[in-house]
Amino acid sequence: MTLLELDSLDSYYGQSRAIEDISFTVEQGDVLAMFGRNGAGKTTTLRSIVGVLQPREGTVRFKARDVTGLPKFERVQMGMGYVPEDRQVWSNLTVAENLAVPAGRGGSRTPEDAYELFPTLNELRGARAGTLSGGEQQMLAMARGLLGGTELLLLDEPTEGLAPKIVADVREAITRLADELTIVLVEQNLDLALSVADHVVVLSNGELVHAADAEGLSADDEVLREHVSI
Ligand code: ATP
Repeated sequence: MTLLELDSLDSYYGQSRAIEDISFTVEQGDVLAMFGRNGAGKTTTLRSIVGVLQPREGTVRFKARDVTGLPKFERVQMGMGYVPEDRQVWSNLTVAENLAVPAGRGGSRTPEDAYELFPTLNELRGARAGTLSGGEQQMLAMARGLLGGTELLLLDEPTEGLAPKIVADVREAITRLADELTIVLVEQNLDLALSVADHVVVLSNGELVHAADAEGLSADDEVLREHVSI
């Protein structure tokens, strides 16, 4: 079953077009990795999917429903979870409080499920989010994104700026999430992304220039090398 379908999306910042004619589909249970250089339009595409940004043209369908024009909170209620690049955890709240807020919106996945997926967070329940390391904050942001009834998780560069040891933890967490959820993953770490992805799309200058199955693709693939900064 197709969970997410983008049809010819154009999104702008003011007069400036950031993405043009972006179309792809994501099947339920799959992981789609989105690659491209800085400024290629990956974040803009995620923001257009979740409704932080309204596309000027095109359609977003989620669970076979046209959600274009719906505000973000309604898409989240329908089952989208968005983990932005800058994580946006609530620094002054504890880990448990950060997880209590989205858990209040209903759905089946509880903070206890999140602690099971992220044992590190379990030990940090009482710690203020602002005191956590970058990797711990990333895990908290991901845990928050999947609470409630999330079916589609949108992850924007979850390993950016993290130490290699922490990257390994985040990789493991994403691998476990991939068993439960449909994921759109923006990730510059090609090895990590290719190890979890089923399909790959490559953006360049706001346009989709390549789509492929992840199987058989390697980080030194010519198309990836051309369009992804390493
Ligand atoms: P990065 O890895 O740097 O986040 P990206 O592939 O996610 O890159 P986007 O952030 O989607 O790319 O940017 C696409 C284009 O839109 C770029 O030309 C960028 O300069 C522009 N852009 C992004 N955010 C804004 C904004 N808030 N206002 C104006 N232009 C923006």
